Amino acid sequence: MKFTVDDYGFYGKFGGAYIPEMLYPNVEELRQNYLKIMQEPDFQEEFQSLLKDYVGRPTPLYFAKRLSEKYNTKIYLKREDLNHTGAHKINNTVGQILLAKRLGKTRIIAETGAGQHGVATATVCALMGIECVVYMGEVDIKRQAPNVARMKMLGASVVPATSGSKTLKDATNEAIRDWINNPENTYYIIGSVVGPHPYPDMVARFQSVISEEMMAQLQEKEGRDYPDYVVACVGGGSNAAGAFYHYLDRPEVKLVAVEAAGLGVDSGESAATSVLGKEGIIHGSRTLLMQTEDGQVTEPYSISAGLDYPGVGPLHAHLFDTKRAIFESVTDEEALQAVLELTRLEGIIPALETAHALAAVGRLGAKPDDVVVVNLSGRGDKDLATYLERFHFDE
Ligand SMILES: *Cc1c(COP(=O)(O)O)cnc(C)c1O
Repeated sequence: MKFTVDDYGFYGKFGGAYIPEMLYPNVEELRQNYLKIMQEPDFQEEFQSLLKDYVGRPTPLYFAKRLSEKYNTKIYLKREDLNHTGAHKINNTVGQILLAKRLGKTRIIAETGAGQHGVATATVCALMGIECVVYMGEVDIKRQAPNVARMKMLGASVVPATSGSKTLKDATNEAIRDWINNPENTYYIIGSVVGPHPYPDMVARFQSVISEEMMAQLQEKEGRDYPDYVVACVGGGSNAAGAFYHYLDRPEVKLVAVEAAGLGVDSGESAATSVLGKEGIIHGSRTLLMQTEDGQVTEPYSISAGLDYPGVGPLHAHLFDTKRAIFESVTDEEALQAVLELTRLEGIIPALETAHALAAVGRLGAKPDDVVVVNLSGRGDKDLATYLERFHFDE
């Protein structure tokens, strides 16, 4: 079984590039050049040096002693929350901006839902002195004011998408329209392992630094370069893809992908794509997505904005289809409990997205000698307002 992308841009039956003809030249330019550029020594040198000195890598692999005692197994946390800007997303935006520069592009566009990818993109544009336009649904602009402020402070223009439900998918449509109109000078930075080929493969490769570091760190700490379980939350799937990447072809490692069940998978308010999704096409690739009988995309729901996405990337659809990964879903309530648990046992306040991965640890059936790595995708600063509202510390 093969889990990397094939020559046609597919993972099994998922993936591909289902795009309007007008977009073909842009995507084709990228497809023909991304691997070549990524393998050039001067690209690698600049990428590695920024990961080290700007992002703050390698991130620690921390043995969580009290959490391990509680679950009676050996739990390590891969600390992506310690990256610059507070999550794994910066690994990918640093990579893509270097690629854009080498393609001679002078203008960056992106779309964002919760604003985390918008911030990571605006950050690297400020770093490189490149113009940045971020499309964001009008509704999301209101809901995510602190991230909108960050993007503006970093010098990006935040353009409201005012059509449809005024959320992520409408912002995506606006970004695609912009790219069609500006094929020469503009590069589109996508924030997860979604979109037409080559984006899912490219983003997975940029994020694969996570499992590359894990191998060396586990070798040092455990005397073997692999764990028994790798657990990660899945919105589009980029932090999971990075954490799984170097273990995809190693069946001794169980891969655990955790989706947001929202109010419960049967509640109608959920984002658990593997349970509720069917094959279809979204954002240019064939994958699993939540849709109605007649193929309209269903509005997803999760308390965590980063997991509130109606699809998963094609790699994850393939991992689900082939049963290479175990898929779990975790409700809002379970995730909130996991936030408090990690905070009180380890002194680490995780992002709401990340807490979904943590909440699944108790279900694995891991034995006392098993090694479990949880990818701690981001920190909880951005979620403090939700935590204060839900935990009632003053009562
Ligand atoms: C955006 C985000 C996610 C979800 O995105 P993936 O592409 O699935 O990784 C998860 N955790 C955090 C902290 C995020 O910001």
